[in-house]
Amino acid sequence: MPEIFVLAEHRQGQLRDITFEMMTKGRELAQKTGSELVAVLFGKDVKAHAKALAEHANKVLLVEDARMENFNSDAYQKAITQLIGERKPLLTLIGHTSYGLDLAPSLAVSLEMPLATDCIDIGFENETLTVTRQMYGGKVNVTSSLRKAQSYVATVRQAAFQVKSEAPLNGQIIEVPSPLSEETAGKRFVQYVPPPPGGVDIAAAPVLVGVGRGIKDVSNIPVVEELAKTLGGVLACSRPIVDKGWLPTDRQVGSSGKTVKPKLYLALGISGAFQHILGMKASDLIIAVNKDPKAPIFGVADYGVVDDLFKIVGPLKNKTQEIKGHK
Ligand SMILES: Cc1cc2nc3c(=O)[nH]c(=O)nc-3n(C[C@H](O)[C@H](O)[C@H](O)COP(=O)(O)OP(=O)(O)OC[C@H]3O[C@@H](n4cnc5c(N)ncnc54)[C@H](O)[C@@H]3O)c2cc1C
Repeated sequence: MPEIFVLAEHRQGQLRDITFEMMTKGRELAQKTGSELVAVLFGKDVKAHAKALAEHANKVLLVEDARMENFNSDAYQKAITQLIGERKPLLTLIGHTSYGLDLAPSLAVSLEMPLATDCIDIGFENETLTVTRQMYGGKVNVTSSLRKAQSYVATVRQAAFQVKSEAPLNGQIIEVPSPLSEETAGKRFVQYVPPPPGGVDIAAAPVLVGVGRGIKDVSNIPVVEELAKTLGGVLACSRPIVDKGWLPTDRQVGSSGKTVKPKLYLALGISGAFQHILGMKASDLIIAVNKDPKAPIFGVADYGVVDDLFKIVGPLKNKTQEIKGHK
C-alpha cells in the first residue's frame, strides 16, 4: 500500500503543533489516495511521542539515536533518506519551520524529488501533486501541479490546517535501527536559547488584546494595556507596532511572529493582513474593532464592532471592572 510520511517535529520535550496539523492533512490525503499515513519520528527517549503519534497514524517509524535528541538537519537527512529509499512514500510532509527550511531543500535535491514549499493546501490530481501557495505578499493564491514523480516532498505552512479530532487510528509503532554510523560532522547542536527572562509569552496567555496601527500613537499603548490587564490578559500586536518600537518583538502575532490560540483575541485597529491572521485565526473567540467595515479581520472574527477603537476601550474596561466587582 502507498504511504504518506509526516516528519514529526519536537522541541524541548514537546511535539510541536505543526506535527498534528500535518497529520490532519496527511490523513485526508491518505484517505483520498488509498495510502497509509506514516509518522516518522527521530529522537532520544521519545517513545511517549511515538504513542501520541500512533493515535493519529497507521504506522509510526521510530528511530532512536542520541545524535537526534535535538534537530540536526545532517542527521535527520541521513535517517529520512534511508526510510524514503526503502519505503518510497508517495509524499513526505515536513513543517515549513526553521527545521523544514533547513532540511527539505537539501533532501529534495539529494533524492531528486520535486519539492513544493510553504504550502497552504495540498492535493493529488491524476496521480500528480497539486499545491496551493501564496504570492504577492498573500494577495494571490496559486494552485500548481508538479511534474509526475514517484515521490514528492512538501513543506507545510504553520497553522494552515486546523487539527481535527478524529477517531484514533492506534497505529503500529515500528522501531527502526538508526542508520547513523559516524558522528554527524557538519552540524552540531550547541544549546537551546529560551526567550529572555521577563519577556511575556503571548502564546501562553488566555486573553490577548492585539493592537495594530489603528492605535495611532505610542502614548495610547498604556490605555489598551490597562484594558488587557482588566480582562486578565496581556498585550499583543501586529508587526508595524514592533517595527515602530512601540512593543517588543515577543508581542508580535503572525507569520513572522508568534502563533497564538488564546480563549479570547480582541483585535483593536488591526486590518487583518494574512500574515497577522495566520498567527491568531485558531483563537477560540475573536472580537475585532475596526473603523473600516471592509477590513479583512472581520472575515475571521466571531464578533465585529465597526467603530473607533477609542470609543470602545474605556467603556469596555469600565464594564469589565464593574462585572468583576472592582468598582
Ligand atoms: C514577509 C512579511 C511578514 C510579515 N509578518 C507579519 C506578522 O508576523 N504579523 C503582522 O501583524 N504583520 C506581518 N506583516 C505585515 C502585514 O503585511 C501588515 O502590513 C500588517 O499586519 C498590518 O498591520 P496593521 O493591521 O496593524 O496595520 P494596517 O494594515 O495599517 O491597519 C490598521 C487598521 O486600523 C484601522 N483603524 C485605524 N484607526 C482606527 C480607529 N481609531 N479605530 C478602529 N480602527 C482603526 C484601519 O481601518 C485599518 O484596518 C508581514 C509582512 C511581510 C511582507
